[in-house]
Formats: sequence, C-alpha cells, structure tokens
Amino acid sequence: MKRRNFIMGSAAGMAAASLASPMSILSSCAPVPEKPKTPLNICFQEGIAIGNNLQEKLDYMESLGVTGLEVGGRGLKNRVDELNKAVEGRNIKLSAICAGFDGFILAEDPEVKAAFDNSMREIIAAAGAIGSPGVIMVPAFNGQKPCKPHTFETRQYLCEELFKLGEYAKECGTTVILEPLNRRECFYLRLVGDAAAICRDTNSEGVKCMGDFWHMQEETSDYAAFMAAGTKYLQHVHIASRGRRLTPTEDGEKDNYIDGFRALKEMGYQGHVSFECGCEGDRAVVLPKAIELMRAQWEQA
Ligand code: MG
Repeated sequence: MKRRNFIMGSAAGMAAASLASPMSILSSCAPVPEKPKTPLNICFQEGIAIGNNLQEKLDYMESLGVTGLEVGGRGLKNRVDELNKAVEGRNIKLSAICAGFDGFILAEDPEVKAAFDNSMREIIAAAGAIGSPGVIMVPAFNGQKPCKPHTFETRQYLCEELFKLGEYAKECGTTVILEPLNRRECFYLRLVGDAAAICRDTNSEGVKCMGDFWHMQEETSDYAAFMAAGTKYLQHVHIASRGRRLTPTEDGEKDNYIDGFRALKEMGYQGHVSFECGCEGDRAVVLPKAIELMRAQWEQA
C-alpha cells in the first residue's frame, strides 16, 4: 500500500506540477504552428504558351495562373529590355534560361571550350539583368566530341571550371544550373543526386542543379532524387508527360508526379516547375487540363 500510495501520490504530484508549469500551459493552449504551405509555381517555356506574340502569350499564361516564363539563352542579351518590360506589372517572373550557348564545358578543343566560356558568360550576364534564377547547362551531350574522358580528373576539372563560372554568375546576381539528362542524351550526368554532389564539391553558391521529370526516368525514386538536392541545390524543375515527352495528361496513367511533388512540398521548394514538352493534341484543350492535373496531384502529394 505504501508503494501504491507513493505511486499515486507522485502521479498526482506530477500532474499538479505539470498543471502549474507555465510551459505546459503554453504548450497546451498555444495553437500548433502550421507549416507554411509550399506553392506550386508553374512556368511555361516561351514556345509552350498560345499567342501570336509575347504579350499574348503572357496574357494567356496569366489566365491559367502560370507565374513563370522560361526563355532560351541564344541572343538573350538583345532581349533584356523587351523581357523586363513584358513582365512589368504582371504576376509572372522570368524563370531559368534554357541553354543557348556555343560549345561545351568539357570540350577537348580549346576553341570549342573558349566558345562555351564566352557565350555562356554573355548569357549569364543577361540572365542577371532580367532577374533570372539561373542558366541551364549540360556538361556534354553524348554527341559532343572530342570530349574529355569520363574520369576522376575530368570531374575535378569540371568542378574547377564550374567554380569560376558560378562565382561569375553570383556577381551577376544569378546562377548556373546543371541539368542531368537520360543516358541516351548525356551519359556523363544522369542523376539529380550526382548533379547535387557536383554542386557541393564545386563549392560555389552560384552553381545549382535541377530535375527534369522526363529525364528522371533514370532515377529509382523521384522523391529521393529531389530530396538529395534539397533547397540548397535544387533551383529549377522541368516537366513533360512521362511516356513520350508530350504535355502532362497525354500519356495517361504514366503521368504521375506525386512522388516528386511530395518531395518538393516537404522541402519547401520555391522555384518553378516548367513545361518543356511537345503536345499531340490541341494545346488550347490540353494545357488547361495539364495544369488541372498538376494542381490535383500537388494537393494529393
Ligand atoms: Mg529539361
């Protein structure tokens, strides 16, 4: 009985103490803070939107609630004023810049490498001038030859070259974004996690990576791929249907983005999910359906 009394007494005592504790009053009365909701920021590449000119395209995008425009890098320096004016007063931001440079970073030929450096730096400067989050690049497409061999030394060289480019991009107020592709297009860089590891080893805040749902057929898990990059490195996302690289919904049940969306939501990804895809049907019908599907799957994720 003594032991029981002790237990009862101590339990009552603990209850009384916890009732009296200001911390417990706080924890029981204070509302549980809600995690901020991650928005789904949808973006179109310039060729996706319907319209005869940029203004019409932007009007159309606004009507669908699309908040990002992704343009190509070629000739970007001549479009800085046009693009800045076009989005003025709109709920649309200029998003990542899609490549458009000459040469490639892993070129063996010094002239080809110089062409890359010069054209890439020109695009980076223009990207900074339009407030873009970064310029998308691939280290080397399979067909680009002669290319430095796929060795440890080449990876180190890539990190050193990317560091210089990344620091320049940072000065310009933007970044360079590594895009992993599927093995048929770019054996060198196929996985989002590998691109993120290159960002880490490059150690420049101006070097980021992205994921493209089409190329992410290489991944064993969309969720793990995005999580491996996290918000520290993930700067952009491309989307397409998952069977034939058409518009989301055009490949039916294959067009499931929930696993990847769950990662983007959980990590609080603030960048764009940008349409980079063809379209088999009537875009006026398919695009609104694609956006509806993405929003439904984002909710579900
Ligand atoms: Mg892509």
